Amino acid sequence: MTHVPLVKGRSMHALLDVSGLRKVYEGSGRRVEAVRDLTFTVDEGELVCLVGPSGCGKTTLLKCMGGLLAPTSGAVLLEGKRVTGPPPGMAFVFQEYGRSLFPWKRVGENVELPLRQKGLDRARRRELVADALASVGLADAAGAYPWQLSGGMQQRVAIARALAYEPRVLLMDEPFAAVDAQTRADLEDLVRGLWRERGITILFVTHDIDEAVYLGERVLVLSASPTVVQEQLTVDLPRERDQLHTRVAPRFAELRTHVYEQIQAAKRGPAQEGPARLRDEPRDEPLRKVTGAGS
Ligand code: ADP
Ligand code: MG
Repeated sequence: MTHVPLVKGRSMHALLDVSGLRKVYEGSGRRVEAVRDLTFTVDEGELVCLVGPSGCGKTTLLKCMGGLLAPTSGAVLLEGKRVTGPPPGMAFVFQEYGRSLFPWKRVGENVELPLRQKGLDRARRRELVADALASVGLADAAGAYPWQLSGGMQQRVAIARALAYEPRVLLMDEPFAAVDAQTRADLEDLVRGLWRERGITILFVTHDIDEAVYLGERVLVLSASPTVVQEQLTVDLPRERDQLHTRVAPRFAELRTHVYEQIQAAKRGPAQEGPARLRDEPRDEPLRKVTGAGS
């Protein structure tokens, strides 16, 4: 088998530190253990992709990291401080861009909205809005309404809104799942470009293996629910990536095959079958070996 570098050990100076994160949803007689035990770190300035099967708890994890949801146990630390609510300096880009923009507000106003809460003066707000819209290639769209734009353009607006906020950490939850393939490729390049230019720490969730390998400097593979980190691997592709050459590079194929195999294993379930198993999906042999699970 081809050698794929796994990430071992934990960083001493992590920007984000997720330790023993567990989330159980309870209510109306139902109990769902969405996330069992997630432990990993993210360093300042990293671009990390999280990939895992649908329903494995990716959104749950991001919501816990963004302080939108309280973990059942375990913790998320940002610079060593426990996240208990949405921390300043963190921005979200959600999957449903259609629902995340206000249809009655113009594009520029949508992008400006979070800046008002930041208490910035009008001139600075204008500057940030114009800069963010230009960064996503929508310099001329400030006066349009979201519903006048295509899906891909709406998602650009959502990205611009996050950028204008000047976040230190950007959490992206399957942001391109609903756009066509060409637009998606453009948006992927946009994210890598912004990451390189702005040095933002990005955590990008996707169920698309190719997307995870193309975008990430590191990929965390999550198991099926109840979720653990199945594996972490370093994407040792060049920093310069492009849709034409990167995706046909032999190393890209090796990495995607490796992640694919891990996902297949992940679908079979986490390492141990504990008493807390609450879902009744059919399962094969449980996995014996979990590598690099943030330990
Ligand atoms: P993913 O984003 O990986 O598709 P989610 O985090 O959305 O997964 O969901 C993980 C699991 O938790 C799923 O089984 C889902 O049905 C369940 N779940 C998510 N949100 C809630 C909720 N608010 N109440 C109850 N169960 C939920
Ligand atoms: Mg989700």
